[in-house]
Amino acid sequence: MYAEADLLPLSALQHLVFCERQCALIHVERQWGENRLTAQGQVLHKKAHDGKPETRDGERITRGLPLRSLALGITGQADVVLWRPPPGLRLTGRSLAEVVRTSQSGDFAGWAITPVEYKRGRPKKNDCDRVQLCAQAICLEEMLGVAIPAGQLFYGVQRRRFDVSLDAPLRDVTRTAARRLHELLAAGVTPPAAYEKKCDACSLLDVCLPRTLGGRSAAQYLHRELLSARSES
Ligand code: SF4
Repeated sequence: MYAEADLLPLSALQHLVFCERQCALIHVERQWGENRLTAQGQVLHKKAHDGKPETRDGERITRGLPLRSLALGITGQADVVLWRPPPGLRLTGRSLAEVVRTSQSGDFAGWAITPVEYKRGRPKKNDCDRVQLCAQAICLEEMLGVAIPAGQLFYGVQRRRFDVSLDAPLRDVTRTAARRLHELLAAGVTPPAAYEKKCDACSLLDVCLPRTLGGRSAAQYLHRELLSARSES
């Protein structure tokens, strides 16, 4: 279990699974590159977070719910969480946020609780989005003492939600990613650049320079450039 002071941003898990170098550039070196894709993603997330809780077809919908897991050592927010109560039970009086804040293990027995993560593009081959969603579910499970077998990913291109099974292999990948995130940020060393096709969609392409740096770090690259400039002068 991690201490409160050691919690890391849940969103960093997605960066880590996409590319460890990107994760370190953002969370160690505090570099952030905005491109058209990330700007569209920010707008979609803002829309998903904005708005009051509402009830549709007997299902409560909350937005921007704070999350935390001491087991994973992460903290963040859920874009949307769907809460379907067991038959015959309805929330009255206290708001759902208050119930969540003060809940004891067992308060949500029998509820179907589903995190929904909003994404700008289309379903990906890699596990970035599924890991982020699974981490949200693990946070909710730890906070509420419930089991969450599935979540949903909404993709802006298709404008629909896709069910995601939060099975044992995905949970293993998520726990491993969380451990690796703590190791990477504790070490504070940015891995070297290595160009891959995914780099073309990376918001940090111009900072990272994977084609220019190859397998070298930025410091090694600068050192070599300086030596070359001196030998020419
Ligand atoms: S450009 Fe490529 S190597 Fe560099 S941070 Fe982005 S994905 Fe990683």
